[in-house]
Amino acid sequence: MAGFSSPETFCPDTSTLQLLPIRFERLGTDRFLVGNMVGDMAAMTETELNRLCALDLTPGDGLYERAFEKLFVGSIEQRAQQQLLALRLRSRLSFLRAATPLHLFVVTLRCEHSCPYCQVSRQSKDRVLYDMDRATASRALDIALSAPAPLIKIEFQGGEPLLNFELIRWIVVTAKERAIPRGKQLQFVIATNLALLDDEVLDFCAEHGVLLSTSLDGPRDLHNRNRPRRGQNSYELAVAGIARIKDRLGPDQVGALMTTTAASLDRVEEIVDEYVRQGLDGIFLRPLSPYGFAMKTKQFHKYGAQAWLRFWKRGLRYILELNKSGRRFPEFYSALILRRMLSDEPIGYGDLRSPAGIGLGALVYNYDGTVFASDEARMLAEMGDRTFQLGNVRENSYRDLVLSDTLVSAVAESLTQTAPQCSTCVFEPNCGADPVYHHATQSDLLGIKPLSEFCERQKGVISHLFELLENFPEDAAILRSWAS
Ligand code: SF4
Repeated sequence: MAGFSSPETFCPDTSTLQLLPIRFERLGTDRFLVGNMVGDMAAMTETELNRLCALDLTPGDGLYERAFEKLFVGSIEQRAQQQLLALRLRSRLSFLRAATPLHLFVVTLRCEHSCPYCQVSRQSKDRVLYDMDRATASRALDIALSAPAPLIKIEFQGGEPLLNFELIRWIVVTAKERAIPRGKQLQFVIATNLALLDDEVLDFCAEHGVLLSTSLDGPRDLHNRNRPRRGQNSYELAVAGIARIKDRLGPDQVGALMTTTAASLDRVEEIVDEYVRQGLDGIFLRPLSPYGFAMKTKQFHKYGAQAWLRFWKRGLRYILELNKSGRRFPEFYSALILRRMLSDEPIGYGDLRSPAGIGLGALVYNYDGTVFASDEARMLAEMGDRTFQLGNVRENSYRDLVLSDTLVSAVAESLTQTAPQCSTCVFEPNCGADPVYHHATQSDLLGIKPLSEFCERQKGVISHLFELLENFPEDAAILRSWAS
């Protein structure tokens, strides 16, 4: 009778192991963060990293299993690991198949607020000069509906877009008519400070399924300080507007965005409390952008990446404790990064993708018909820098705009997959290219990453989330739920 084979017979042959593409970054004295090309990461000691690179791995030693699970190694004789990597990469980049889902219509530059950090250069008077007209809107609509994305989101921006509500009405109704023969689905959002919200606007939004998005910077004194207007009642109008929308349209039909000014840095708990008090379903702790009035009034230079990271970490800690008490309340920036870290979903969010989101993720139609590659590009143009102006609705088609030399070269030059620093960075699969930001701050589309505050923030955010996922099981469970 034949005997059993020895256990060694069933052991995988380690002589056929091969190292797959990995990147790493030192986290501490004897701690490294190691990652693959689709964003899976693991912490290792220096000895473990050296053994991984030398393929000194043995089945059963723990490191062998971790290296296989994280797709750091594969077998020369089998292509399964490479195929899996390729499949996952394709899924992560599949947002490219539905190009340009977001279209921003700047229906007016006029605004009745005068916020010192406003990222748009507002105009207070002259309706004729600074409002979009119907002919311009009609051409912009045709361009938007020619984009390949099956779901087209139209966002109305300003200035204060409700100052040109008649045009919003016309665009929504006309877009719905024109979308039918093209088989497109539509979503509409008005980004407004809510000061001009009235029953007419609410009725229209209810009838046409239009969402509203507003700004709320925190408690009354902070919000009113950040957003001056005659009467000093921006906060009162915003919270009254949020309550009216919830009441009339439903609790999930309004969202709010906050901007972190120097005055916000010590007050993150109060800011979160304000969002909870207003019944909002989460908060996006976002830093100030280097455009428009934020630059003119020198607000942008008042705090750096490390100060913002301290603010964000303190806020995240507070929000995690809130979630532990039973209230589901995500921090949306963390949630976006976590979806990149924990899933292969195609996340097309403008700043967190490479190829960059300019043009391919969004187009912006300015009030006068000029077309920009992103809202930030439009803000830059208001400061006199037209680097990312792609064309004009009267002269250019969708194809002209997205295949313009300006856009193609900006996207190609900023690819993180091939850029110095980024191409060898462990955070690259979970990061993104932001050519407009780097052009604005460093006059360089690609960006000199060791000097980039964007890069410093991304590294700080991703490594902090990684530590929480690895070492704090209770926090990890909450963070995982935000990613799903
Ligand atoms: S921007 Fe910085 S963190 Fe992001 S991939 Fe490039 S080097 Fe890495």
